[in-house]
Amino acid sequence: MNITFTEISEDWQVTLIKHSLADHQVKIFAQTAQEIDIEALAETEILCPFIYSACDQTLLQKLPRLKAIATNSTGFDHIDLAYCKANQLSVFNVPHYGEHTVAEFTFALLLAISRKIIDSVNRVKSGSFDFTGLRGFDLANKTMGIIGFGNIGQKFAKMCKGFDMQVNVYDIAAHQLHQEADSMGVNWVSLEQIFTASDIISLHLPLTSETKHIIDHAAIQKMQAGVILLNTSRGDLIDSTALLAGLHSKKVAFAGLDVLEGESLIKGEIELLHEQTKRASELQILLEDHVLIQDKRVFVTPHNAFNTQDALARILTTTVSNIDNFVSQIKSDNQII
Ligand code: NAD
Repeated sequence: MNITFTEISEDWQVTLIKHSLADHQVKIFAQTAQEIDIEALAETEILCPFIYSACDQTLLQKLPRLKAIATNSTGFDHIDLAYCKANQLSVFNVPHYGEHTVAEFTFALLLAISRKIIDSVNRVKSGSFDFTGLRGFDLANKTMGIIGFGNIGQKFAKMCKGFDMQVNVYDIAAHQLHQEADSMGVNWVSLEQIFTASDIISLHLPLTSETKHIIDHAAIQKMQAGVILLNTSRGDLIDSTALLAGLHSKKVAFAGLDVLEGESLIKGEIELLHEQTKRASELQILLEDHVLIQDKRVFVTPHNAFNTQDALARILTTTVSNIDNFVSQIKSDNQII
């Protein structure tokens, strides 16, 4: 098989891929599929992208030999599933590599906010041991509202319980997950209650047409003054305009964001500026992203929650096994279509 990996830099355990797929023709690129000369992709039978390669009709119809996509990620909102289904392309993801990894990162963002870790370190680096202005707050007894009680949401809930927080969860799959919630001692509530009763809200659900802007103006209006928002899932779950308004009115006290709405625009912003008249709405999102990044109450990280050595090895090992299963036509739970 001709297998193409995109968005894999040298530090991404390239040897593991080459060694495990020695029987195949493997090409590895650091760029996204959009940045690679299409000639170099033309022979691809299995495409293994990360999340910044838009696997849409424009790209996929240029790959005549393509049979499968095995994404190196949990999320698959960058893949046009309808097109894949209509064109008999199989799609695989990596559902289980990072539940601890992403939950730990979310908690790290929360602690950075609650204990002003970044300002504290910068204060000392600047030569001062004065702690004026560095007072934080306890997490114990605060109410955490978790939207999405899947693999990551459950691990995050356990961590919150370990910090003696009150934990409320909401998930559309309530009937399947009630037992987990009960055994963990977390409360099963409505989305409305998450909005109205939480000191902190953390998002752990996929981006779909239903979940886009699940945090919008109306949702923020319902929240308690001083709420903290955490998003390590997908940027488009939060309407940036609404978040900026919430920060402006001080309804939102802090935000910890590993993901931003339209974050791929930031990577390609130079090109975008050249095309500005055509893409005014994208420019607005880009501008809002920059305002969020500069706000001292907002902690933005570069979609880095997945990024540990351990998680990377699990991702690539799973993608290799997804490829093996596809080639050997073995049924797999990781196959989306
Ligand atoms: P998961 O599939 O195990 O859990 C997602 C949960 O969301 C499910 O229980 C599902 O029922 C629930 N859900 C779906 N639609 C919902 C809705 N409308 N309202 C409420 N709940 C809803 O996924 P996971 O492994 O926990 O990952 C969650 C998300 O985290 C992924 O979709 C991905 O976007 C993101 N992620 C981010 C990073 C990163 O580096 N920042 C890494 C991995 C995953």
